[in-house]
Amino acid sequence: MRDNAKFNCTPSIARMTPRPTPRPGSRSLLPAVLVVVLAAFLGVVWFVTQGEPLPGTYFAPERSSVVAVVVLVSTAAWGVWLASQQRQRVGEVEEERDLFFTLSLDIFCVLSADGRFERVNPAILNTLGLKPENLVEGSSLLDLVHADDTRLVSRGLAALEAGHPARFEVRCRCGDGSWRWLNWSATPTPEEGQIYAVAHDVTGRKHTEEALRAESAFRTAMEDSVLTGLRAIDAEGRIIYVNRAFCELVGWPLADLLHKRPPFPYWDESDASQNEAKLGVCLEGKAPSEGMELRIRRRDGKRRDVRLHVSPLIDAHGDQTGWMTAMTDIREQKRARNELQAANERITTVLDGLDSLVFVTDIASNEVLYTNLACAHQIALGGANPVVPNPDPVDYPLDPATLTKKDLPCELFDGELQHPRTGQWFHLRERALRWVDGRIARLAVATDITAMRRAEEVTREQEASLARTSRLITMGEMASTLAHELNQPLSAISNYSKGCVNRLRSGQYKIEDILGAMDKAATQAARAGEIVRRVRDFVRKSEPRRSMVSLAQITEDALGIAGIEVRRLGARVSTRIPPDLPEVLADRIMIEQVLMNLVRNAAEAMQEVPMEQRQITIGAQLHEDSIEMMVADRGCGISPENQANLFSPFFTTKPDDMGMGLNICRSIIEFHKGRLWIEDNPPGGTIFRFTLPLENDLEPEPREQDTSPA
Ligand code: ADP
Repeated sequence: MRDNAKFNCTPSIARMTPRPTPRPGSRSLLPAVLVVVLAAFLGVVWFVTQGEPLPGTYFAPERSSVVAVVVLVSTAAWGVWLASQQRQRVGEVEEERDLFFTLSLDIFCVLSADGRFERVNPAILNTLGLKPENLVEGSSLLDLVHADDTRLVSRGLAALEAGHPARFEVRCRCGDGSWRWLNWSATPTPEEGQIYAVAHDVTGRKHTEEALRAESAFRTAMEDSVLTGLRAIDAEGRIIYVNRAFCELVGWPLADLLHKRPPFPYWDESDASQNEAKLGVCLEGKAPSEGMELRIRRRDGKRRDVRLHVSPLIDAHGDQTGWMTAMTDIREQKRARNELQAANERITTVLDGLDSLVFVTDIASNEVLYTNLACAHQIALGGANPVVPNPDPVDYPLDPATLTKKDLPCELFDGELQHPRTGQWFHLRERALRWVDGRIARLAVATDITAMRRAEEVTREQEASLARTSRLITMGEMASTLAHELNQPLSAISNYSKGCVNRLRSGQYKIEDILGAMDKAATQAARAGEIVRRVRDFVRKSEPRRSMVSLAQITEDALGIAGIEVRRLGARVSTRIPPDLPEVLADRIMIEQVLMNLVRNAAEAMQEVPMEQRQITIGAQLHEDSIEMMVADRGCGISPENQANLFSPFFTTKPDDMGMGLNICRSIIEFHKGRLWIEDNPPGGTIFRFTLPLENDLEPEPREQDTSPA
C-alpha cells in the first residue's frame, strides 16, 4: 500500500489553487476617457475659433483635420472602450471559473504529464477528507491510489501521454485511511504538457453496484442450488425465465425453453390437450393452492411425474406481469408414498390378522386412537371390552399420570386378568409410548387366554388325578409290605389281648400285669393306626392345596411309609435337615409323594450293591430365595442316555413299573415353581435335587375336606 506520509508534510497547496485573475478596474477606461475629452476639446476649439488660431497661439486647426482627429480619437476611444469591456467580461468569466473551480463538489486537477498534482481544487480535500498540508507539491495521483488500481492509472497516464483522453475508476485513500472510489476523466493538453482531470466520487454507486452484484450472485446461486424447477411465464404463457433445476428436470437447455410459447417442448404429445387446459387454468389464476400434477416428457424421452405450484409474478411497480411456476419431481415422493402405503397395508394386514386385541388409547383422555380388527369385533360384539378394562386388577408399576416423554417407551403392565363381566381371561401387556402425534399413549395387546386357562386347569386336574393314581399305585405296590408292617402290631395286639383274656378267665392275675399288657396292646394299635393314617392321608382324594408346611415334617411322614419298603430292601436312611429351616408354601401330600418316589427309587437302585453301601441321605439347604432338598444314594447311577429320558412319561428300566414317577415328580415341583434335576453322586450313585421357592405369588389355600372313604 502506498505510503501517504508525504501528504502530511507542511507545504500547503497554495500554489496548487487557481491563479487570481485581476478584475479590470476604472483605471483601464482612463485613456479612453482622456482621448474623448481631448477630441471634445478640439471640437469645441474649432467651433469657437472657426479656423482662427487659438488665442495666444499659432495653432489654427483646419476643419478637416479637426474632423479627422475627432473621428480618429473617437474610433480609438471606442476601440479602447470595447477592449476594456471585453477584458472585463473575460475577467468576470475567469472569476466565475475560479469560483466554480473552488466551489465545485467534483474534483478538478491540473496534473503534470507524469501524473503529479500541479493544481487542485478544495473538492479533493473535502471528498477524501484530507488537510491542505496533506498534499505536497510534487505528490502524484499514484500516491493516492490503491495498490490494486495503480495499473489502471498507469494505463490511463500512458494513453494521456499519447494524446488520448482517459477514464478510470480507482480507489483513493482518504485522510482516515479508508478508501473512496473516484471516477477520473482526464484530457491532455499537448501544448502545455499538462493533464486536466476531473473526478467525482462514485463510492456510493460502487457500493450499490457491489451490493447488487452480491445480491445477484446470491440470487443466481440460490436459483442454481434449489432443486425446485422455477419457470416464469408472461400473461400469454410465453416462458420468460427458467432456472437450472427446471432445465435439468425437463432435460432441455435454457436456449430451447426461453421465449417458447405453448406447447412447450417438454409436454408429452399425448397429454397436450390436458396440459393446454392446465395452463389455461394457471393463466386464469385458478390454479389450486395445493398444486397440480403433470406428466412431462423429457428430451431423452423419459416421462416424469411433477407437481406444479403457481403464483402471480409481480414486478417492481406492483403490477402482475405473468406467473411463476415451481415444479417439483414427485417421482420419489410417489414411490415413497406407495411404499408407505404398502407398508401400512402390510402392517394393517398383520395387525388385523392377529387374534390378539391390539389397541391404543390416549393415556390422559382414554380416547381410542387405534384398534385392530379383532379388537373392533370384540367391541362390536359387546363382549369383553379391553379398551376400557377394569382398572382395579391392573397394578401398574408406574403411574401413567406421572409419565413424561423422557420415560418413554416403558412397560406399564404385563399380566393376566379376568374380565369381571364376561369372565374371559386375557393376557394383557401394556406399554406407554409416544403416539404419532406426540401425545403419550397406551399400547395394549390383549390375548384371550380363556381356552388356554381352561386347558391348563384340565391339565392340572389330570395331573392331580394322575398323581393320585400314582400314589394309589405306589400303595398297591407297597400293599404287601404295608400288610406285613401292619401284621406285626396286629399280632402283638392279638397276643396281648389273648394273654389278658386267658389271665382274666383263669382268675389268677394281677391287675398290674393286665394293665401292662393292655398298655402295650394300645401302643401297638397306635403304631398301626399311624401307619394307616399316613397311608390314608397319602391316598386320599383332594385338590392340590398349598399351605405353609415344614419340610422336616413332610420328610418324616414320607419316611413313615417309604421307610418300611426301604428297610425291606435292606437300605438305611439318614436325614440332614436343619432344625431352623423355614416353612414353605406347598401342597404337603404332593411334596411327600415326590420324596417317597425319590426314596423308593434310591432304595431300588441299590439292590445290586453290597448291603453296607445301601445308604440313602436326605438333606435340605437354605438358599436366599429357595430351599433345596436332595435325595442321594450309592446305587447303580444313571447312564447319560437314560438321563436324557428320565423324566419322559413311561420311561422305566424296571420290568413291572410304569415309569411315571419322575415325570409326575417334575410336574409337582414345577407346579410349585421349583426345579428338579439330577447329578451323579461322586462316590457312586445318583443325587436328585429339587428346589421350592421361599416366596411365590401363590396365596395359601385351605386344604379341602377329605373326600375319600375313611
Ligand atoms: P419307575 O420307578 O416306575 O421306573 P420312575 O419315573 O420313578 O419310574 O423312574 C424311571 C427310571 O429312572 C427307573 O426305571 C430307573 O431306571 C431310573 N431311576 C430313577 N431313580 C433312580 C436312581 N436313584 N438311581 C438309578 N436309576 C434311577
